[in-house]
Amino acid sequence: MSVMDSLALTRIPAEGEALRAEIRAFLQSTVTQIPAHVRAKSWGGYSPEFSRALGAKGWLGMTFPKAYGGSELGPFARYVLAEELLNFGAPVGSHWIADRQSAPLILKYGTEAQKHRYVPGVARGETYMCIGMSEPGAGSDLASVKTRAVPGEKGFVLNGQKIWTTNAQHCHYMIALVRTSGSSEDRHKGLSQVIVDLKLPGVTVRPIEDLSGDSHFCEVFFDNVQLAPDALIGAEGQGWEQVTAELAFERSGPERLFSSIVLFDEWLAFLRTEKAPRAESLKLAGQVFTRLAPLRAMSVAVQEKLVQGHSPIVEAALVKDQGTVLEQYIATAIADDVMSREADDSAAQLPAELLRTLNYVSLVAPSFTLRGGTRSILRGMIARGLGLR
Ligand SMILES: Cc1cc2nc3c(=O)[nH]c(=O)nc-3n(C[C@H](O)[C@H](O)[C@H](O)COP(=O)(O)OP(=O)(O)OC[C@H]3O[C@@H](n4cnc5c(N)ncnc54)[C@H](O)[C@@H]3O)c2cc1C
Repeated sequence: MSVMDSLALTRIPAEGEALRAEIRAFLQSTVTQIPAHVRAKSWGGYSPEFSRALGAKGWLGMTFPKAYGGSELGPFARYVLAEELLNFGAPVGSHWIADRQSAPLILKYGTEAQKHRYVPGVARGETYMCIGMSEPGAGSDLASVKTRAVPGEKGFVLNGQKIWTTNAQHCHYMIALVRTSGSSEDRHKGLSQVIVDLKLPGVTVRPIEDLSGDSHFCEVFFDNVQLAPDALIGAEGQGWEQVTAELAFERSGPERLFSSIVLFDEWLAFLRTEKAPRAESLKLAGQVFTRLAPLRAMSVAVQEKLVQGHSPIVEAALVKDQGTVLEQYIATAIADDVMSREADDSAAQLPAELLRTLNYVSLVAPSFTLRGGTRSILRGMIARGLGLR
């Protein structure tokens, strides 16, 4: 079967769509008053209050079993929720990673005790987790991680450093990819995943300021951190397989299509106020729609594969690669459209909030093709999947 065969058109089933209207009404009343340039932070926006409000509605842990605080509503219900949250620009950053991948990972590989300990808090919007994969010398080449958890009588002793860890300064736990045996030359062998309580002695979290002035990602240092034996998630030495499966969840969702959508909406709202929108602006709006629609269909098709229990790693890479290209195109094309008005009369009427939103998205857009795996790495995976490498 080729990659394209496995991206057959899929519809979101009726039970998945069922909550859309209620979710929209909730977001209309809770999110729309937030200024667009703040909503543009999208899944980078941070609000524990908002996360707890979603948890109270049963809209976190939607796919988790009820025994661990979930609502067992199914992955398509969660997909619809994610689409709506992103389209409104809801501040979902506090819970996003825990709900999307950390708790599902624990549910898949963790012990009963770990599931009961960590997952219900995620479903309530009270427990936040971050991803500890990248290190200064290991980003694209994750197999060369050097952070080491040495097994001993009392559990593991953790030493090393992670970097670019989104929201580590606000999170309770990190799920870290570490070496528990062998050396970096052993590549995939000897890697494991451990859960690290970020309040433990020996953990230092240092935020890094980005181009936009936000400090949403961090360096995290481990200096002889004593981890309990039950910090290990899954089997020792199975970290590589676990991380690879986790990345399919991370790469194919609507967050890889909608990072610039608040800007796009704000720009469309501006065009609607014009007496006679410029022909080239209307053409651009049409171009964005016609690129977005098939990408969304591809993302839904990957979701279907995940629902069926497959691990569509190459297909997810395809969605992320093309989705993030479009997210970046929206920012540059709208900047061209807006800035090319300088010489004509409409420049004076450009809304300040549109310009603030454009400024923010333009500053962060380069990161869209880095986070979650760079464009070159994804294209290498796609080429391999097509038998071209
Ligand atoms: C906004 C943001 C949030 C992030 N959040 C997290 C997080 O929460 N947790 C986490 O663990 N990480 C996170 N990251 C890190 C991210 O996953 C890495 O930046 C990314 O994987 C690239 O790794 P690197 O920065 O070490 O770059 P490098 O791997 O050093 O790559 C540098 C350049 O070389 C290219 N390159 C490298 N290897 C190859 C190759 N084999 N073939 C072709 N080209 C290659 C890359 O494409 C890139 O252009 C985040 C990054 C960003 C931007």
